[in-house]
Amino acid sequence: MAKKTTAKKAVKKKAVKKQTKQAAKKKTAAKKKPASAPKKSAKSKSSKKLTPRQKVIQQIKQNLINQKEALLREAEETLSALPSELNFPDMGDQATAETDRNFMLRLRDRERMLLKKIDETIDRIDNNEDFGICEECGLEIGIKRLEARPVTTYCIECKTRQEEEERIAEGG
Ligand SMILES: [Zn+2]
Repeated sequence: MAKKTTAKKAVKKKAVKKQTKQAAKKKTAAKKKPASAPKKSAKSKSSKKLTPRQKVIQQIKQNLINQKEALLREAEETLSALPSELNFPDMGDQATAETDRNFMLRLRDRERMLLKKIDETIDRIDNNEDFGICEECGLEIGIKRLEARPVTTYCIECKTRQEEEERIAEGG
């Protein structure tokens, strides 16, 4: 009984060995092929040619980052001017998170919404998603409009129509 098992094992072992040998052979053959295929490297900025529109969009993104930083700085100054129990030094990470949360809560709604929009817009630019495409009609939003209002998701025609409809709805 024991002998039989051993024999079986040996056979199995042999088969495995054969397989491994074949795999090794295959690998060698593959290696011999010239590596002509271009490497799929991470998007390198230098090799990626930007269209004029994309260049402007990158500039818009930079402006958004600046605007965001300015907003946060401004908000921070406003907060530090307030007498607050939050102004304790040497607080742990948890306390810092708590401060951040309170900080965000204290930002005026309008600023908070704007910051959110800015973040979303930067994300959309980074992911090359639908940035600069009108949500309503699917056409490209004019670059001038994007420069003036980067967080917009509507082209001027659709936005104008919406505002007109709103005005009518409000009876104004
Ligand atoms: Zn549109």
